[in-house]
Amino acid sequence: MAELVPIPQKQYTCPYCHERPIEASLSIPYVRGLLIAYQIGYRRFMGCRSCLRKKALQEVGVSGLVGWFSITAAVVNPILISYNLGQAVFVRPTPKRLRRHLHQLGLPEHPGLFDLTAIAYAMAAKMVMADGTAEEAEISIAATLGRDWLPDFEENEFRQVLSYHRDLPEVKDMALILRDVLDEAGKEHLWQYLNAIAEADGKRAFAERKLLRIVAQNLKIKPKQLQNAQNTDSETSSVAD
Ligand SMILES: [Zn+2]
Repeated sequence: MAELVPIPQKQYTCPYCHERPIEASLSIPYVRGLLIAYQIGYRRFMGCRSCLRKKALQEVGVSGLVGWFSITAAVVNPILISYNLGQAVFVRPTPKRLRRHLHQLGLPEHPGLFDLTAIAYAMAAKMVMADGTAEEAEISIAATLGRDWLPDFEENEFRQVLSYHRDLPEVKDMALILRDVLDEAGKEHLWQYLNAIAEADGKRAFAERKLLRIVAQNLKIKPKQLQNAQNTDSETSSVAD
């Protein structure tokens, strides 16, 4: 059990370089053109300024490649590219926004004691939605096992988090942050919890297996199920982007 884990460090470590402290939170908009439609959205990153600059520039590169394949995207894309280029140049510390985004994740401004239940809500919500639908079987397993694991886990609160799952940071980034924050038992328990949710509907969909593998990689753990079920996957490096 690992409800509250004391952490010796004063600041969170950047999940990308694991060296410098987290200084800012950045929302990077993107547009992807499909043949007749387009997708627009944003991805949220927390990290040190240097890594966030790289993230914004990477998105400029990706948008330059794949952002053009529809008329609307072709109009929006140049605007976003220049916006992201601007962001890359002017990444500065954003303590307020960082505090808000950390709070959404259940993390206090300075690591000391943090709320594993909020993390469990967020990670479980992402796992439930991994295959694109909110299946009741998965939600109810998430709630039951969540309550067994964490005494303050509330099904209602979990369902609320589930309703804004799109606004949560990405699972791979949450896992990267948790690598430096959770102890080994907590990491293992978290992974087993997510695995149980994935299996709740009787099968682990491809998207769910992929998410479980990314979580294990970024937490730097090797769960047994993963070794047995996916010995074809030999990748061991972190998935940071
Ligand atoms: Zn960094």
